[in-house]
Amino acid sequence: MGILEKMRLDGKKIFVTGGARGIGMNIALAVAQAGADVAIVDMDLDQARKTAEHIAQETGRKTLSVKTDVTNPQDVDHMISEILKHFGRIDVAFCNAGICINTPAEEMTLEQWKKVIDVNLTGVFLTCQAAGKVMIAQGGGSIINTASMSAHIVNIPQPQCAYNASKAGVVQLTKSLAIEWASKKVRVNSISPGYIGTDLTLNSPTLKPLIAEWERLSPLKRLGRPEELQAIAVYLAGDASDFTTGSDFVIDGAFTCF
Ligand code: NAD
Repeated sequence: MGILEKMRLDGKKIFVTGGARGIGMNIALAVAQAGADVAIVDMDLDQARKTAEHIAQETGRKTLSVKTDVTNPQDVDHMISEILKHFGRIDVAFCNAGICINTPAEEMTLEQWKKVIDVNLTGVFLTCQAAGKVMIAQGGGSIINTASMSAHIVNIPQPQCAYNASKAGVVQLTKSLAIEWASKKVRVNSISPGYIGTDLTLNSPTLKPLIAEWERLSPLKRLGRPEELQAIAVYLAGDASDFTTGSDFVIDGAFTCF
C-alpha cells in the first residue's frame, strides 16, 4: 500500500471534543475529507450541529453532534454510548476541548484554577479513559490529545500559570497512557500548537490586544491557521502512524526554538 493510501481514513469512526469550532472543527473536517465518519462533541450543541451539518455536506460522510461537558463523567459516558449507538465502534478519539483563563498567579481564585485544570486536564483524562476502554475491547485505536506549546514554554506577556500547568499535564498524561496501553494496541499522542487564530485567541477580550506582540515574537511573524494542524491530525489518526505513540508534536512556526 502506498503512503497516500495509508493516509486515508476510509470507514474509520472518529470523535472530536471541542469540535464545534476552531482547531477541533478543522480536525473534524480534515478526517472526514480523508474518509472518516465523525462525531462533533461539544458543550455548545447549536454550533456542534451546524458544524456537523456543514461537514456532512462538504464531504458526504456521516456526522453526529453530541452535547457533552468533558468535565462531567456521566456526560462523557453518555457521549461514548451515543457514538457507539450511531457508529458501532470508535477508532480514533481527539481530546481537544480546552479553555484559557489569564489571571496573575497571586490573584487567581481556587475556582479559576480548578476550572482550567478540570477542563484541560481532567476532561482529557476522562475522555481518554472512556475512549480507551472501548478501544481496548475492540483491539486497538488511536487517541490524540491537544496539548499546547505552553506545555513546553511560558508564554509572555499574559499570565496563565493554570493553563501552562494543565497542558504540561496533558503531555505527561499522553506518554503515561501510551506506555500503559501499548500492548493493547491503543496509541496515544499529543499535538502542541503554537498561537493559532481561533475564537480562543482572536475573540478573547484579554488575548486579542496581545496578538501584535505574539506576531512580533514569532519567527514567522504571524499566528498559525487552524487548517495548518490538519495534516498532523490525519497522520496520527491513521495507519501511517502505526509506530508513532507517546509522542508530542509541536506545531508552532519555531516559536519554542529560542
Ligand atoms: P476555541 O475556544 O475556538 O474552541 C474550543 C471549543 O471547546 C469550543 O467549541 C467550546 O465550546 C468547547 N469546550 C470548551 N469547554 C468544553 C467542555 N468543558 N466540554 C466540551 N467542550 C468544551 O479553542 P481552540 O483555539 O480551537 O482550542 C482548541 C484546543 O487547542 C484547546 O485545548 C486549546 O487549549 C488548544 N490550543 C489552542 C491554541 C490557540 O492558539 N488557539 C494554541 C495551543 C493549544
